[in-house]
Amino acid sequence: MRVLITGGAGFIGSHLCRKLLEYGNSVICVDNFITGSKDNVSDLLENKEFKLIEHDIADELYIDGQLDWVMHFASLASPRYYLKHPIHTLKSGLLGTHNCLGLAKEKRAKFFLASTSEVYGDPLEHPQSEQYWGNVNSIGVRSCYDESKRGAEAFTYAYKKMHDLDVRVVRIFNTYGPNMQKDDGRVVSNFINQVLEGEDITIYGKGEQTRSFCYIDDLIAGIIKMMVADYSLPLNLGNPTELKVIGLAQMVKVLIKSKSKIKFLPLPEDDPQRRCPDITKAKKHLKWTPKVPLKKGLIRTIEYFKSK
Ligand code: UDP
Repeated sequence: MRVLITGGAGFIGSHLCRKLLEYGNSVICVDNFITGSKDNVSDLLENKEFKLIEHDIADELYIDGQLDWVMHFASLASPRYYLKHPIHTLKSGLLGTHNCLGLAKEKRAKFFLASTSEVYGDPLEHPQSEQYWGNVNSIGVRSCYDESKRGAEAFTYAYKKMHDLDVRVVRIFNTYGPNMQKDDGRVVSNFINQVLEGEDITIYGKGEQTRSFCYIDDLIAGIIKMMVADYSLPLNLGNPTELKVIGLAQMVKVLIKSKSKIKFLPLPEDDPQRRCPDITKAKKHLKWTPKVPLKKGLIRTIEYFKSK
């Protein structure tokens, strides 16, 4: 197959490019390198089945020849970046999705949208199942990300309805692993790098808020299963093991055997208090469950950041 991946040089995109090449496909990676990095795909540049295009998907994209899958990952997905670049975030989520849908329609390709647990906002239901409609502040600081992904989902299902496009939508919960950017501000990369550099660990609020962390290899396996499954409604992918942020800090400290102190900082505005996926549908429709325990995944991620 010939697959186009936007955000292909980003954290998740780069792992997906590698896996699809391994399976014998041709991959076109599109990235504007705002948060993606050439380093993430530098080892693929020699592969004649891999093509890298520098392009901002908020602008239209024309590709010669057939495409079988169009997979839209491009986004400023970390709160640090989307809070800094709200307009760009809205453009990649909304205009970028529209452009990818247009391309998929033109090629009669299967379209994949990388959606997010943020569509549930600061959820009032727990754990979050796909049926939950969410609790999002439409003009809050996180709305550029949350609402652009909600809009992207709406765009996707409008194309399915009007143009009979074959679509897949995955709501991705917190994911971590190698190829995360060191300075992207997310909790796993922050804690590991703070500890490795002997700095204080920054906990926002009291650290009582929860997240559940999925290792990248598990997520990639789920995404590929979703592409080949006969299921076109939104589907949660994430690890349902819920943990307090302070618990994560303690775990990282123990794994690196560090004496870093914990520094408490103000909780960011609209920071979701609890997040945990209900993955009943993924289990049923994809026969997928995450396999990598947090400790094992953290050790691999620590090794990655050490090697950088
Ligand atoms: N967080 C923290 N310290 C940090 C970075 C993040 O306590 O240095 C908290 C943040 O407030 C949030 C959680 O960790 O409650 C996860 O944040 P992240 O930026 O990784 O992603 P989110 O799940 O909020 O999109």
